[in-house]
Amino acid sequence: MKEYAAPGPLLIIFTDLDGTLLSEETYDPGPARPLLERCRLAGIPVIFCSSKTAAEIIALKKDLHNTDPFIAENGGAIYIPRESALTLPETARDMGAYAVIEIGAPVSALRRVLKAAAEKTGADVRGMGEMTTKEVCRLTGLKKAQAEMAMERAYDEPFILVSGDPGYLEEEIRRRGYTMTRGGRFFHILGGSDKGKAVQILTRLYRACFGAIQSRGIGDAENDLPMFKAVDLGFLVKKPSNKWAKLPPLPRLTRVDGVGPRGWAQIASRLLREQVIVSPPA
Ligand SMILES: [Mg+2]
Repeated sequence: MKEYAAPGPLLIIFTDLDGTLLSEETYDPGPARPLLERCRLAGIPVIFCSSKTAAEIIALKKDLHNTDPFIAENGGAIYIPRESALTLPETARDMGAYAVIEIGAPVSALRRVLKAAAEKTGADVRGMGEMTTKEVCRLTGLKKAQAEMAMERAYDEPFILVSGDPGYLEEEIRRRGYTMTRGGRFFHILGGSDKGKAVQILTRLYRACFGAIQSRGIGDAENDLPMFKAVDLGFLVKKPSNKWAKLPPLPRLTRVDGVGPRGWAQIASRLLREQVIVSPPA
């Protein structure tokens, strides 16, 4: 049997990776993998929208046979494959196989601001830029090659708070015109970008190309909040603790009863049921 996208607005799925499409512990999509494949065959774009770097996401896309655009470093930049049907804005930068729409401040500025804000508030922070590969491996459970890709930051600096008050630090970072958010394992400092802004820009490009579209967002943590606000419907999967992240109530956010990729698979199969026409067996 073959599945086809039903006629009507194009469905686009924006998804977080760590703790959502990928298990927070094993980084494997497990039960979500076959659903991802079904989305691909049905022509439903699945846009990875993660705090991971472009290098990490490109490696993952290859493994998962995903050829859609993606959003890296918590919304810092959008990467659109050269062969994409989308019309690129003039500001897009050419980076080999991808055109890149840059949104976030450069990581050098983020590191400066983080240091200054930490000093001001008496917090002891350790940014990924200061860490050794070994340290990143220990903190993330990644293997050396993957950790090296994770360290290729351009628009988002992950950091740990060794001591100090995260509230004061966040306030000081905001006072300087930057934002602080929290992912699965790290705090992040960002400048002028978030997942929501990137989702909005990419949604506009899809709309310009395909007309009406309907967007869905799947995530697990606080840094997905701007993404949830930017999509038509959002879905929150559970943390490995079997609980949902504490997020403010959002009218269009559904809490899904499944941890990480298990929850992802449930949502995707529901979306496929709603969206896809199955051709009768010949
Ligand atoms: Mg996550």
